Amino acid sequence: MDDIDVFAQSAIVASAPLGPSRRQYANAAAVVATPLVPPALLRRLQEIEIHFGRTRRGQPWQARTLDLDILLWSEGIWAESHPHLSIPHPALRTRNFVLTPAAMIAPDWRDPVTGLTIRQLQTRFNRPKRLDRAV
Ligand code: ATP
Ligand code: CA
Ligand code: CA
Repeated sequence: MDDIDVFAQSAIVASAPLGPSRRQYANAAAVVATPLVPPALLRRLQEIEIHFGRTRRGQPWQARTLDLDILLWSEGIWAESHPHLSIPHPALRTRNFVLTPAAMIAPDWRDPVTGLTIRQLQTRFNRPKRLDRAV
């Protein structure tokens, strides 16, 4: 692609589907460089999704061929309502299928909201949760 240079790409990590679809998902992360500003990059990613046969109808989280999200941006935070775009991706910190591939290629990249690196977010997410003691 002429306007998106791939610097690094992770291995593919399988995950169970979210919501109603039944197939497993294949997840991967990439570090890319682009002259596009975030909303222009989002449009470009949506064009690529359509090129790969994605249609947008029905409920969110339906089975789809390709979903390309922007997780982090080297310039920090982006928040816009038209088009709706939040960077960091709001679910970055709570999805193992995102943190695992992202940690393969950018473990030291910091989430500007929490100040934690991807590796730290992953450790935090996978730490056994403290059970509330029964009274
Ligand atoms: P989720 O956000 O839970 O991963 P999704 O990727 O399945 O959901 P989509 O239907 O692909 O949801 O996208 C819905 C909208 O989310 C997009 O049209 C886009 O405007 C918006 N959006 C907000 N922040 C981002 C982001 N960081 N990356 C990609 N899309 C985003
Ligand atoms: Ca998504
Ligand atoms: Ca998406």
